[in-house]
Amino acid sequence: MKNPKTQNQSIEIDSTEIAILETLINTDDYISGSVLAKSIGISRTTIHTKIDQLKSAGFKINAISNRGYCLEKLPKKLTPQLLFTYGKQLTKDFQLFFYPSIDSTNFEAERLFSNGAKPPFAVFTNKQTAGKGRLGRKWHSQANQNLYCSIMFSPNTQPEKLQSFTLWAGIEVCRSIKALIPTLDLKIKWPNDLYCNGKKVSGILTEARIDSDRMHTIILGLGLNINSTTKSFPEEIRSIATSLRAETNQSYDMNALSIEIIQATVRAYKKCTVSNNNESLSKAWDAFDYLKDKPISLTENGQKVSGLALGINSYGALQIKKNDGKIHTIHSGDVTLKQ
Ligand code: ATP
Repeated sequence: MKNPKTQNQSIEIDSTEIAILETLINTDDYISGSVLAKSIGISRTTIHTKIDQLKSAGFKINAISNRGYCLEKLPKKLTPQLLFTYGKQLTKDFQLFFYPSIDSTNFEAERLFSNGAKPPFAVFTNKQTAGKGRLGRKWHSQANQNLYCSIMFSPNTQPEKLQSFTLWAGIEVCRSIKALIPTLDLKIKWPNDLYCNGKKVSGILTEARIDSDRMHTIILGLGLNINSTTKSFPEEIRSIATSLRAETNQSYDMNALSIEIIQATVRAYKKCTVSNNNESLSKAWDAFDYLKDKPISLTENGQKVSGLALGINSYGALQIKKNDGKIHTIHSGDVTLKQ
């Protein structure tokens, strides 16, 4: 988790803080300063300093003389100490980068790679100043409330292998969120947006570097509205956007969810790159298909196509039953739901 050279400074992790935090998380009761110091191999004075640093980072830690320290409350906001602690569940080669503020996590992933960072890695921020969507569209990124991350892999393989990566990522991310909130009505609007009750809760933007028929790198950028309230969305998206909090009247720990999202993306990547994936894409998609059996329209090569959405084929292309009964296959496009 070292910083490669980049104009932006990602937060360096303090391994002592992480060790203290891990011990406190795994201890139900108070733990004395001397036991804590001994178990980590540092002085009690250092424990005191580090506990103060954790407190100012948003951790609620009680200290009682003769009893020691007890972790009362974890911050829900993305907090590097917690992100890196939970990140220990990831494979050793997986790096995490955290920035208090950045233009776009996809841009930063590119820069990190150009400066020597080795995928797989993930970039997180609490604030995007130039969050982007598809086709140069803007992703509104309210500070501290939602998840903004990019996960980079270097497949170095034929591009066809990864052609359904965005779709698998959507499926796996939905599965992770549904595991946390089983009652959530979560769907995917082909190909890359997650919807709850007809409103957009997440956008996925996949960008790849391909040359001479090889895909060198692929970045999956994801914006997920977690703890924003409906009121806090800007006027222009208020009627079309939602968040997990707006849907469930509850706020969520963004740190735990961030690691779940990485694991979901890694599962999606493996689905595409390992030879023994037996799961059917179209069947898996069916469970989350927002468009299925709905009348839709889209423009393809300047021509308007309308009909009933049937689902996707095994390559991830959208199937439409046109008004004349013919089945039409769509590989890319902006789908509009007909009212
Ligand atoms: P669409 O088909 O909805 O226009 P898209 O897939 O082409 O979206 P994306 O890149 O996913 O585009 O997202 C950009 C669009 O999403 C913006 O044009 C805006 O309408 C909407 N949007 C921007 N920020 C948010 C947000 N935080 N939450 C929900 N929707 C947003």
